[in-house]
Amino acid sequence: MVLCRVNSLNNLLMTRISTHARNVSTTRLSGDNTQDKVKGKYDIIIAGGGMVGCTLACAMGKNSLLSKLKILLLEGSPDKKFVLKPEYSNRVVALNQNTKSLMNSIDVWPHVENMRLQPVRHMQVWDACSEALISFSSSDILDDDVAYIVENDVLLEAINKELKSNAIQNVDIVYGAKIAGYDSPKALGREMRNLVKMENGDCYSCDLLIGADGVNSKVRQSMGVQYVSWDYDQMGVVATLHLAEECENTTAWQRFLPSGPVALLPLNSTTSSLVWSMGTAQAKHVLSLSDESFVDELNDALWKQYPRSSAVDACVSWVGAALRRAGLPDGAQRQLPPSVRAAAPASRAAFPLGFGHSARYVAPARALVGDAAHRVHPLAGQGVNLGFGDVKDLTQFLSDALYAGLDITHPSPLEKYESGRQRHNVPTQLASDALCRLYSLQLVPAVLARSVGLQLTNALHPIKKMIMSHATT
Ligand SMILES: Cc1cc2nc3c(=O)[nH]c(=O)nc-3n(C[C@H](O)[C@H](O)[C@H](O)COP(=O)(O)OP(=O)(O)OC[C@H]3O[C@@H](n4cnc5c(N)ncnc54)[C@H](O)[C@@H]3O)c2cc1C
Repeated sequence: MVLCRVNSLNNLLMTRISTHARNVSTTRLSGDNTQDKVKGKYDIIIAGGGMVGCTLACAMGKNSLLSKLKILLLEGSPDKKFVLKPEYSNRVVALNQNTKSLMNSIDVWPHVENMRLQPVRHMQVWDACSEALISFSSSDILDDDVAYIVENDVLLEAINKELKSNAIQNVDIVYGAKIAGYDSPKALGREMRNLVKMENGDCYSCDLLIGADGVNSKVRQSMGVQYVSWDYDQMGVVATLHLAEECENTTAWQRFLPSGPVALLPLNSTTSSLVWSMGTAQAKHVLSLSDESFVDELNDALWKQYPRSSAVDACVSWVGAALRRAGLPDGAQRQLPPSVRAAAPASRAAFPLGFGHSARYVAPARALVGDAAHRVHPLAGQGVNLGFGDVKDLTQFLSDALYAGLDITHPSPLEKYESGRQRHNVPTQLASDALCRLYSLQLVPAVLARSVGLQLTNALHPIKKMIMSHATT
């Protein structure tokens, strides 16, 4: 490993490269008592090839400095042949502008556009227990779309298309590669190397190990860091929905019910995707319903009048009138959500929801990205966007480190990555958690506080813009 600074960047890279095995070769680590056979030695191993891990591999493969390094992506599930079916998948994500620009920078976005996506030009979020609402439209955020709804499979296929293209030469991918565990970085002569042990007995070594292996990350566990987590005792019920009437369908709708938020995300003029958060017992019940009863219950969730407090109603209407007098939006521009005609056959499914925060995103020669580092309630549609933010920053800091003549495992870039991302991710996670808790309350003071808060936020353009700007960066 090159530890000292060299004069020219080229020299640095050439020296680095020559010190690493370039191809997958069988090597025995000197001084390693475990006698593990190392099938390949890499500069970087990314554990987990979900949306975040694949994007990281792609971003590193496209970066002019990191593309000189040898990178291995290990994914536990098999390599699936993707076929774009006419029917939509029930798993979708709302992607923000920052994600779009990352995907554009690594040439992935055009693949998504060639398959399918739906822009969100308007968003309405409202409370079932009062008249309060907040709405965002394209003009609120730099005249661009509020978000894009993309199926997880489509996004993963788009990333993989680019990852496997000739534009990227330095990334090896192994599918069906179930990682059994890790040995902590071993000091081998001057080298600090991680050992990655596979279930089939294979073994790989690397300088920097990056965990993109999701909520139950084994990389995180191997780092021995503190992990704060809780379950919401809620599940996110998803389904692909056929709307009762054709419409432009570029609005994302979210209604906060006492049992959890229900959201319709647009897919095309007649189809939307459902993310409906509710208690675990209710989710099991909803999954067991006939298609017809399910749709009835869903339409109720979107339309039903919940018990109202006259004090809250009076206060909301007084605040609305005051805002009107001041020439500010009073929240009376409420639009009605579409009604649902049917759910696509076999598209209903439910996923447990929880919160997770790793106190450290980095440890010597290790780093975490995506859900491995942080898990968030889907009500703000931020989970994978936060992960893509990690990808952008980690790639940038590692590239800067190489440029400055530092090693990729040097603590400085890793710590910069951690502090920068935690400054962004933790407030987003806590705000989502606070919203989830606040909207589950039906006590009059809580409904009153959140309703007036929502009305004022909706009326004050700079605050709304600040929220959107945080959500899109
Ligand atoms: C209902 C719901 C709706 C959501 N909606 C949104 C939304 O609108 N917008 C948004 O931004 N986010 C949303 N999210 C969150 C988003 O889905 C996650 O943040 C995202 O999937 C995390 O991606 P990841 O790549 O970090 O982890 P994962 O998707 O969990 O990928 C981890 C990968 O690692 C692999 N792996 C794990 N362990 C091993 C091992 N031992 N060996 C080998 N491979 C391994 C797995 O096979 C997997 O491919 C939603 C989540 C839910 C549940």
